[in-house]
Amino acid sequence: MSERDPRAELADIASSVKRYVERERAAGTGELLARGATAARGPSRPAPLAEGPAPPAAALSSAIAAPASGELPAPGRAYAFDLPPVHPPLNSIEIAERAQMQSAAFPMLELVAAEARACRKCGLCETRKHAVPGVGSATGGIVFVGEAPGADEDAQGEPFVGRAGQLLTQIIKAMDEKQLIPGVTLDRSTVYIMNVLKCRPPENRNPLPHEIEACSPYLRRQLDVLKPRVICCLGKFAAELLVGVKGTIAGLRGKVYRYQGAKLIVTYHPAACLRNPGYKRPVWEDMQLLAREYLGQGVS
Ligand code: URA
Repeated sequence: MSERDPRAELADIASSVKRYVERERAAGTGELLARGATAARGPSRPAPLAEGPAPPAAALSSAIAAPASGELPAPGRAYAFDLPPVHPPLNSIEIAERAQMQSAAFPMLELVAAEARACRKCGLCETRKHAVPGVGSATGGIVFVGEAPGADEDAQGEPFVGRAGQLLTQIIKAMDEKQLIPGVTLDRSTVYIMNVLKCRPPENRNPLPHEIEACSPYLRRQLDVLKPRVICCLGKFAAELLVGVKGTIAGLRGKVYRYQGAKLIVTYHPAACLRNPGYKRPVWEDMQLLAREYLGQGVS
């Protein structure tokens, strides 16, 4: 029997190992194997950056996911929280059910909006240009609740259209591009965006207790018809109203609450992120928590 050249044999072994790894990677197990190997090697470190196309929403990755300077990963590495998740898609029946919920919700949302536009229950009706009932739909099953309209929102009658609003829109876009919830398109038309107060407080002052009391029935009726899977409170006023306790965002975030049939999470208001970019990283982590809870994969 003629002996094979050991170099040819090594080349064969190397190419069959390469084919095996490629097959595993295509089947989605490669990353798990790699993580297992990393775990076996020693203390956890950031997972290696996946090969392939540049991460989507690159602009937002730096805006939202990138940690404060000084904590940047070594070149070629990414943070574990920045890896695409491996959730299974929602089943098609649930997606169809949400479309039906939207058809049912639409006339009621229009009714609540018409009532809010005609509302005279507190003094804010004297100074508003436009009431700002909300925008979006029940289709995606996610509701974002902010504080109150600012000057841009008051001028246009639509929530979150100013600088903070543009950041919220970017966050939603990044959630969609990163496919945090596979099978569900996320944008301003598939989620619902609204505020605790439907009218702008003068000079953007904080909402007053009697204004929240007068206005919150609109929000509660909107939530009743939207039947969200997950509610995301943006900032203190939404959180305190819907969680029902007083507290700081740092103390309230990172937990999962219930509001009727929905899960509810709390995160920093986008305006707070503009003032303090260090909040962008926890906000992105909160969006990942939101996605896990939406998919029913939260740790309970
Ligand atoms: N801040 C809010 O809380 N809501 C808006 O609509 C805009 C800014």
